[in-house]
Amino acid sequence: MSPPFITRFAPSPTGLLHRGHAYSALLAHQAAGAARGTFLLRIEDIDLTRSRPEFEAAIFEDLAWLGLSWPEPVRRQSEHLADYGAALERLQADGLIYRCFRTRKEVAQAMASAPHGAMDTFRSAPLPAHEEAERLAREEPFAWRLSLDAAAALLGGFEHLAFQEEGQGPGGETGLIAARPELGGDVVLARKDVGVAYHLAVVVDDALQGVTHVIRGGDLFEAAHVQRLLQALLGLPTPIYRHHRLLAGPDGKRYAKRDRAETLQALRGAGLTPERLRQEMGL
Ligand code: GLU
Repeated sequence: MSPPFITRFAPSPTGLLHRGHAYSALLAHQAAGAARGTFLLRIEDIDLTRSRPEFEAAIFEDLAWLGLSWPEPVRRQSEHLADYGAALERLQADGLIYRCFRTRKEVAQAMASAPHGAMDTFRSAPLPAHEEAERLAREEPFAWRLSLDAAAALLGGFEHLAFQEEGQGPGGETGLIAARPELGGDVVLARKDVGVAYHLAVVVDDALQGVTHVIRGGDLFEAAHVQRLLQALLGLPTPIYRHHRLLAGPDGKRYAKRDRAETLQALRGAGLTPERLRQEMGL
C-alpha cells in the first residue's frame, strides 16, 4: 500500500480567484489524483475585516467550474478559533511568545531606524513586567509574537531544522532545505481582535487535517521556514512541500487579486472554458 497523500488548496476569501489560484488548485488536485490521495479545500478566513461571504461563494463556484471536487464539510478557519487558542496557550506556557504593543507603523519605523542590515525583519523582546501591566490595564491592543530568541534557546538553535522541498523555491531551492526561521523575524502569531494569525492557523490545520503535501505558490516558500519552526515547537509533523512557479501575465507580472480582468469569474464570463484554461497553463 502506498503511503497516504493528503494535500489542500487553502484560499483566503478576500477577493476573487485568478489564474494563479487556478494553477495552484489544479496542480494540487492533479497530484492528489495521481497518488490516489485526497484533495482538501480549506477556507482561510481569519482576516475578519477582509473576508467576505460572497468571495467564499465565488471560490466554491470557480473551483467547481474548474472541475474540482473535495470532501465536505470544508474546514473554515473562523469556526476553529479554539484550536488555535490551544496552540497559542501551549507556546505561551513554554515562554515562546510575548505581547507586542507596537502598531504596524511603529514596527515599520523601528525597522527603518535600525542600523543597516541589523534588522531585516522585526525582532523584539517582552516589555518589563510593570510596563506591560500598565499597558494591559489601559487596554492597549497588542499582538502575540513568536520570540526567535526563546525558540532558539529551547531547541538549541535551528541548525537541525529542515524540510523537504519537492518543488522549488523562488531561487531554485530544492531537496532538503535547512530552515531559516529568522527570515520571518518575530512573526505575529495572534492579534488581539481575532486571536490567531496566518502561520499559526496554517500549521495547526495542516497537522489536524493530516496534510502530507503542501502544494502552493513559491511566494510562500519563505513561510515554510517559519512554519517548520512552529511545527517543531508544537510537536507537529512536517509535511513535504511542493512550491511551484508563479504564473505571470503577458506583461511579465504575476497575477494578483487586483487584476479584475484575470479573475476566473471574468474569464468564464468572457467564454473561456476550463479545458482551454488548463491548456494555456500547460496542464
Ligand atoms: N491562505 C493563503 C493564501 O491565500 C495560503 C496559505 C497556504 O497555502 O499555506 O495565500
